[in-house]
Amino acid sequence: YRCIVSPAKSKEGLTTGAVLFLSDVTEIIRLERVRSDFAANVSHELKTPLTAIKGFSELMDAGLVADDEKKREYIRLIMKESDRLMGLINDILKLAELENATEEPQRLEIVSLGNIVKEVQVVLEGKARERQVTLSACGDGSIRADQERIREMVINLVDNAVKYNRPGGRVDVSVRQMDGKVILTVADTGIGIPLEHQERVFERFYRVDKGRSRKSGGTGLGLSIVRHTAEHYGGVVALESEEQVGTRITVTFPKA
Ligand code: ADP
Repeated sequence: YRCIVSPAKSKEGLTTGAVLFLSDVTEIIRLERVRSDFAANVSHELKTPLTAIKGFSELMDAGLVADDEKKREYIRLIMKESDRLMGLINDILKLAELENATEEPQRLEIVSLGNIVKEVQVVLEGKARERQVTLSACGDGSIRADQERIREMVINLVDNAVKYNRPGGRVDVSVRQMDGKVILTVADTGIGIPLEHQERVFERFYRVDKGRSRKSGGTGLGLSIVRHTAEHYGGVVALESEEQVGTRITVTFPKA
């Protein structure tokens, strides 16, 4: 609680009592904490690739790398870390945009989720094949939303399902309609998410296994963007997962 005390005065100007204002600031404090944690996380996440870029450039600038092969390796690392930085900044901007978005309903279009899942299948087929993962997409249903944002949301979900999978595994994406709702399901036979982490994976920068996420180019912002996008268009996200068995994420939207 935050407390403000103000003296109560009589007409003659004498203090005759006090007025106590008590206000519940639990939510305000929680939001302040979320904001400052976010700032700390952003700084940390941006510093890591920048430190590597600076370090490798300085080494080369000082003429300490004579070997051409080593030089090429360092340049590749600088490019990789720059890409990471770019991805991170894009994701942070996307989240900020979603949080501030007050969209006029007339800007929304009718989006066919069936078309989107088919497109995403084509985009991620190569990556899935590289990891010996079979990717399927089927069904249809239309929602009112922004096509580009929904495409990004589906890419995030399917990309995770491929990334956190195993050779010989599957990713099945489907869209179905039920009781005025359109339900998108992304189910994988991957490594799964331990129960104690399931609540938290939608938080910004939260990762179950930092090493694995980083290695596969993850920023820890994907699921946070998924939840924000879904809720922005009246959707609800649900997660079911079992370690070493797989993960199923469903997003339920109102039908257009
Ligand atoms: P990242 O960029 O690390 O993939 P996300 O926000 O997309 O970040 O996901 C947060 C974390 O949730 C991931 O680091 C990973 O540990 C876990 N995760 C997400 N999707 C899956 C999945 N389909 N299977 C297993 N783990 C997952």
